[in-house]
Amino acid sequence: MLSLFLLTAALVLSTVYYSVSFSAQDRLEESAKNYLTRLVGSLDAVLARHSYLPVLLAEEPVIQDFLQKKPTALSTEALNMYLERINKIAGTLDIYLMLANGDTVAASNWAKEQSFIGKNFAFRPYFQQAIQGQLGRYYAVGTTSNERGYYFAYPISDEEDRSLGVITVKVNVAEIEALWQSAPIKFLVTDSEGIIFLASDSEWLFKTIKPLPELRRQAIRDVKRYLEKPLMPLEDFRLVALNPSYQQAWLKNQSYLLAERNMETAGWQVYVLLDWKEITSPAATALAVAAVLWLLTSLLVLLLWKNQSQRRRYKQAAMEALESKVEERTRELRLAQEGLVQATKMAALGQLSAAINHELNNPLGAIRAYADNANQFLERGYPEIAKANLQEISALTERMATITRQLKIFSRKSSGSISDCHLQVALDSAFLIVRPKLAQTKVILHDQRAADIEWVKADLVWLEQILVNLLSNAIDAAAAQSEGQVWLTTQRIADKVSIQVRDNGAGIQEEDKPHLFEPFFTTKALGKGLGLGLSISYRLAKDMQGELLAENAPEGGAIFSLLLPFVETSLETQHD
Ligand code: ADP
Repeated sequence: MLSLFLLTAALVLSTVYYSVSFSAQDRLEESAKNYLTRLVGSLDAVLARHSYLPVLLAEEPVIQDFLQKKPTALSTEALNMYLERINKIAGTLDIYLMLANGDTVAASNWAKEQSFIGKNFAFRPYFQQAIQGQLGRYYAVGTTSNERGYYFAYPISDEEDRSLGVITVKVNVAEIEALWQSAPIKFLVTDSEGIIFLASDSEWLFKTIKPLPELRRQAIRDVKRYLEKPLMPLEDFRLVALNPSYQQAWLKNQSYLLAERNMETAGWQVYVLLDWKEITSPAATALAVAAVLWLLTSLLVLLLWKNQSQRRRYKQAAMEALESKVEERTRELRLAQEGLVQATKMAALGQLSAAINHELNNPLGAIRAYADNANQFLERGYPEIAKANLQEISALTERMATITRQLKIFSRKSSGSISDCHLQVALDSAFLIVRPKLAQTKVILHDQRAADIEWVKADLVWLEQILVNLLSNAIDAAAAQSEGQVWLTTQRIADKVSIQVRDNGAGIQEEDKPHLFEPFFTTKALGKGLGLGLSISYRLAKDMQGELLAENAPEGGAIFSLLLPFVETSLETQHD
């Protein structure tokens, strides 16, 4: 995570840095190109302005006549003054006339202490070029004047093309330095051998920026081109090529963008140097801004993410708390439900014990009476009558045995195992249980069960419980009527058996219908009903693959139908 963050940061920041510095470099290169063009332009202009002058002077009759010593020729003094005047008008450094052997015979600086008159310049390359018939060009420091100058020299010949001499004009190019001093750039101009002779910084002058062999250095010193200057390499100067037109230069630990151009006719190389900080400063500023923005953004993202994850944690904790609460409530509910099931069972047991009480007390009373009578009849010597009484007693005990058998069936704990179940037996024991309740009311129970439907798939205890609930509810409903009646019918419908309990009570209220099978739904008075009978019956019916339905009878009253799977012939009977 952290390394991914750092990697992205490095990528973004370096992209910002490099794109800003590339565009700054482009701008600086463009600006270098402009400065270079202007500088070369002004150098060219200085040279071009004076290059024609010796050519023109060479044609001048004044000079021609003087060299041919014509009678009309001016005196040397007059010629000197003439050259001085032209030198002043043209704005050149010096103009001087040499004979074909190199001796200076007239010069504009005739009146100065360091006049050229009498000096021989035959060794100067410009003289040699001119004497061979060309326009001599040369850059050098004047041996007499000590001034840097550009020399233009042109031959003078008579009509027969005999060489008479050479006229030379020395031009001041160093004034360019002063003109460019205020420009926000540095520059230097070298000759073809890399020796700096014009520079924005005077300490660079006469240093070399190209390797110069010692022999060559000595040869240049010998011709006094730059007088006695040692021509040492420029200190701490280093170049790295950026592309074909630009280089990066280090000079005294300062970095520059360097652009160069060649001035072919002059044989010069012109360089402009622009401060490299113009590239690095905006890039560094952009980098700092980007870094701050990046940090702020990251901080914001981190805060948002933290907030989000905290909220997620809270949500999770709340959900877990809710889940455990739901679980706890479910457990409590299950416990409560189990308790209630037990309660209804106990209620049923209460009803059952009342039934037993009623059913067993009557035959017991009768047995006692028959036994007493039999006793008396035996004492009186009527054994026949006593026997009849004893048979009655036997029949009554048989009836009591039936009742206890029913009780045994009911008390049996349900295994929840659904198997073949005798419907008649279940109905009998249900009737037995509700009998005392019936006895307390005037309700008449019509047992209209079909005798041929014997077996259903059910759990006997559950089935009895449902039947007792339905009958009990029906008796309650019918009891409210003056002639309350309950009908029990059984009927086979396809592979099901329908056991219907109908009453002539008030029926089910429309608004109660959706809630009938809900636990604790009751319309009965407090203490009369728990509202669990139908909900438990419904669930038990479902558990036995059966169904429990409720509707109102067209003739009034309610009908509850319990549907259970029909069993043709029980396996139990087959085994009997
Ligand atoms: P309880 O009998 O304890 O009220 P039940 O679940 O057995 O609980 O019955 C729920 C409700 O269904 C009764 O309160 C009653 O309103 C209605 N009900 C049940 N059987 C009948 C019926 N035969 N006729 C009319 N309403 C009935």
